[in-house]
Amino acid sequence: MTQDRYPLRINVGFLINAPISTSREINFDLPAMNIGSDLNLQGLIGKVELTRTPKGILIQANFSSSIIAECVRCLDEYEQPLKTNFSELYAFHANSVTDSGLIVPEDGNIDLLPLLREYLLIEVPIKTVCREDCKGLCTVCGENLNHQICEHQAEINRSGL
Ligand SMILES: [Zn+2]
Ligand SMILES: [Zn+2]
Repeated sequence: MTQDRYPLRINVGFLINAPISTSREINFDLPAMNIGSDLNLQGLIGKVELTRTPKGILIQANFSSSIIAECVRCLDEYEQPLKTNFSELYAFHANSVTDSGLIVPEDGNIDLLPLLREYLLIEVPIKTVCREDCKGLCTVCGENLNHQICEHQAEINRSGL
């Protein structure tokens, strides 16, 4: 099976001539994929609601996924969940574009991937930590203290710290 080059492409042609406030919900359940900018998604689940407005197609999207990240404290890899939801208007005409500058393409195919990539990148924590109480590494021997207490830490514990 080859990966779809445009897994998040939606043809909105059917909405362009539909009455105002016609809407349609589209669900996504996609396998692991790399969407660029170092984002290796472990699968992607999403719900997108498309609504025909007077000025364009309103997209209301909810996506959840996860990436494999390295913990800055213990250096172990772990699964970091990523969730995002956003609303954007794809305008019919250049004179009604929003600050995002999105316009419905002439062929009616909206590719949500570039937009989703931007929104997911914001959600990646600056400091990735595997869990809130991660104990990190021993500064003397480098032992991962989540897995094992080394002699140095046992020493510190004995001296009552
Ligand atoms: Zn950790
Ligand atoms: Zn140690």
